[in-house]
Amino acid sequence: MTRVLLIGGLDSSCGAGLVRDAATVSALGGSPIVCATAVTAQGAHGVLAVHPIPPAVITAQIVAADAVKIGMLCDRTTVEAVARSLAEFPLTPVVLDPVIAASSGGRLLSDNGITAMLDLLLPRVDLITPNLPELRILAEASGITAEDPRDQAQGLLRLGARAVLVKGGHANGPEAIDLLIGPDGTTPLVGPRYAGTRRGTGCTMASAIATALGQGALLCDACAVGKAAVGQFFRESS
Ligand code: PLP
Repeated sequence: MTRVLLIGGLDSSCGAGLVRDAATVSALGGSPIVCATAVTAQGAHGVLAVHPIPPAVITAQIVAADAVKIGMLCDRTTVEAVARSLAEFPLTPVVLDPVIAASSGGRLLSDNGITAMLDLLLPRVDLITPNLPELRILAEASGITAEDPRDQAQGLLRLGARAVLVKGGHANGPEAIDLLIGPDGTTPLVGPRYAGTRRGTGCTMASAIATALGQGALLCDACAVGKAAVGQFFRESS
């Protein structure tokens, strides 16, 4: 069975984070293993507490897998521990969901964590999956002045990202259009726009993509699996 290592935070409400990640991997026939970077107390109303896990404990949890999904990283120390440990597995596909804040607004990655993520993880991962607000923050933090999300994503490619999936969930229109932007060009992924918002959609998308990559799918096909998994999640939780 495909082993998917999920690196991220525990959300006490289980709406997002590691529990959502593990549910996604299992639903796609994979076998989840986790590396907790933080324990958080949170819900739809906000983030009440964040307890970072010590770097030595993070390192000890990172083991060989067929694919890796990274979510909440808390701060620079955590990013450094994850980057150091993943260097042992240079061939394993890695998907990075650049979690910066919960949809409730509570902060989940410090400013120095953002810088470290850009410096240490961006060049290592196979795919980064920002939503539009996250893409804007990452672009600003790396000195990219472009306003258009496509140009911001190109800026991330120039900084070493291998591919960027720009998620269109925060845009408007009858369809939710994600853009897979890589060295070979741009591939749109079009799906219906579901009404309302759900916590954990970003976690679902990135975990599903990592599972498909671990199962041997090409990046473009894996992103389609991710989009389908988010659709399924919306339909099941409505
Ligand atoms: N909490 C944790 C621990 C997460 O890992 C994430 C996303 O990956 C979130 C919260 C954010 O979830 P949402 O934006 O759906 O609130």
